[in-house]
Amino acid sequence: MLEHLQAVPPDPILGVLAAYNQDPNPNKIDLGVGVYKDEEGRTPILPSVLSAERELLERQTSKSYLGPTGVTGFNEAISRLIFGADSPALNESRIRTVQTPGGTGALRVAAEVIRTANPDARVWFSDPTWANHTAIFPAGGLQSGTYPYFDPDSNGLRFDAMMEALGQLGPNDAVLLHACCHNPCGVSPDESQWREIAELAGQRGFLPVIDMAYQGFERGLDDDNLAIRVFAEQCPELIVASSCSKNFAMYRDRVGAISVLASSAQKAADIETVIHSLTRKNYSMPPAHGPAVIDIILHDDALTAQWRAEVGDMRDRINGLRAGLVARIAASGVERDFSFLERQAGMFSFLGLTVDQVQKLREQFSIYTVNSARINIASLNQANLDYFVSGLKSVLE
Ligand code: PLP
Repeated sequence: MLEHLQAVPPDPILGVLAAYNQDPNPNKIDLGVGVYKDEEGRTPILPSVLSAERELLERQTSKSYLGPTGVTGFNEAISRLIFGADSPALNESRIRTVQTPGGTGALRVAAEVIRTANPDARVWFSDPTWANHTAIFPAGGLQSGTYPYFDPDSNGLRFDAMMEALGQLGPNDAVLLHACCHNPCGVSPDESQWREIAELAGQRGFLPVIDMAYQGFERGLDDDNLAIRVFAEQCPELIVASSCSKNFAMYRDRVGAISVLASSAQKAADIETVIHSLTRKNYSMPPAHGPAVIDIILHDDALTAQWRAEVGDMRDRINGLRAGLVARIAASGVERDFSFLERQAGMFSFLGLTVDQVQKLREQFSIYTVNSARINIASLNQANLDYFVSGLKSVLE
């Protein structure tokens, strides 16, 4: 039977990484990979996470199975973090959070929850979106479509076209939105636009599904959940898929959560049983380590304060790089206006290069990025910024 299987081509980003790894040029830069890097180009373990891991090692007495809910302290803390501690829906017990293996796991469970609720439902993605969205939701059994989002001419949001498209949707539709730091384009709706989108969702009855993979990386931990708070006010139902990969730098520990806001406390409890039955059929029991570490951090005032400062440092570094990049590009005499990089947020932005220009950057300067010219700003640092700008200038000439 297995003879019928054919090799699947690798993810293009892995090809870029492999070529980068083989390149002997000491000035090479990898702008493709989607992880945060510090000024030295490393992705270190956060000190708050290390402290909590040490404490966990002392505390842990068993590695017996967790129940399907996982680490309940983690689930409660994540509900507060992503909906806000003063969320009225939280006080009404209308929110249930269940840990998942990464944000990807949360998205896959979300797809299955939606399919269980309505096998004919269709999910709508922003154009463009994180490539894996378009794989995860069909794999979870849903049909999909796209709505207008990024405008390559203005490097901003196609808000009117987006509202027009979403205005056609109804109760059989789910709309996937990025809470902040849109991957790949770095463009978010502003506060009044979020309110308009949420009002539309309330009127039309489509289900908002919010992917929050970068909480803390745009305006801060307490502001980046704006979209979630606004939707929770306007809509009776909402799904959030959150990830702790970036803001706790626990990428390989695979920590995320699915949170469901339901119309009543009873409905929320019912939906949690659906989530348990879906995960039981999939991975049976959730992993403990990452959520147990985060449970310790978020229930210890000193560690929480330390972690918040660490997230703030990552955000400030990225924003500083965005500002520095814009200034150095302008100072280098490049005519094209790159000031949009400073208006966008998070690790990713499109440079607006052609595939030819991307190839030239790779071949002539050992600067590696995917063909869409999406770059990870966090891969830049004071040591490579000028080299990057000279490469960019050269391919634009
Ligand atoms: N959603 C978006 C938009 C992402 O960019 C990512 C990771 O890059 C994820 C979800 C999934 O993150 P995780 O590694 O926690 O599965």
